[in-house]
Amino acid sequence: MKIWLDGKLVDKEQAVVSVFDHGLLYGDGVFEGIRAYNGRVFKLDEHIERLCHSARAIMLKMPLDRTATKQAVLDTLRANGLKDAYVRLVVTRGIGDLGLDPRKCPKPTMFVIADRISLYPEETYTKGLTVATVSTRRNLPVALDPRIKSLNYLNNILAKIEANTYGVLEAIMLNAEGYVAECTGDNIFVVRGGRLITPPTSAGALEGITRATVLGLARSLSVLCAEENITQYEIYTGEECFLTGTAAEIIPVVQVDSRPIGTGKPGPVTLKLIDAFRELTRREGTPV
Ligand code: PMP
Repeated sequence: MKIWLDGKLVDKEQAVVSVFDHGLLYGDGVFEGIRAYNGRVFKLDEHIERLCHSARAIMLKMPLDRTATKQAVLDTLRANGLKDAYVRLVVTRGIGDLGLDPRKCPKPTMFVIADRISLYPEETYTKGLTVATVSTRRNLPVALDPRIKSLNYLNNILAKIEANTYGVLEAIMLNAEGYVAECTGDNIFVVRGGRLITPPTSAGALEGITRATVLGLARSLSVLCAEENITQYEIYTGEECFLTGTAAEIIPVVQVDSRPIGTGKPGPVTLKLIDAFRELTRREGTPV
């Protein structure tokens, strides 16, 4: 496996960063998870755009411009001969001293890993996932906006630990006001009264690229869509529920907090969107 590290493609064993890197010391950095399908990188521009926004929000100067950043992703895929892959693109504040001050970190560290990922077992895509609401609240947007895709994922990890103790594969996180925000690594949707509803990103959700893709697909399929605050009640009383993410794609949710959702099986809107999404990933993307 070849890793792209600060402009060079190196062997996995040589792909090491300093213990003084503030990405490691403080989670000071930003990242993207990107997917390639059959030799095409899906929504590459959107991922680079979000990475630049995350970097701008934390005043981190990107080491490369957008074109060169994209090229690094394509070069990594090519070097590894991968047509279907999950790509992790990371930019950290770089090496500094033991203090917090990012001014002591003159040079950001950037690396790209291309690998495979399978987030959930294959049968959960046909049978549906069981999830639970956890007590860990999503980060307050006024403190650390969840729209920043930063390397500091402790908030999500604490929720994931709770999910593990409940024996479920994903956790629903509420915001401080008690509205549904998102899951630890996915956005959430419900179908209720025939409408497709997802929390607004102001509720404390990442501006998910799969989320935006699904909203676009739903509209093209004439499904009424809304970005609205929802509580657990809307999920419990909805007809369908599903999660979206680059790694997860679209995954049906059939049980939440011990309650079956709708018929307890993946619903027709979910299945139609899964089909449309698969079709899109086959068709679209930046060639490697
Ligand atoms: N929310 C969180 C917290 C995530 O980590 C992710 C995965 N990047 C998502 C939502 C889904 O976003 P996307 O569709 O862009 O992968």
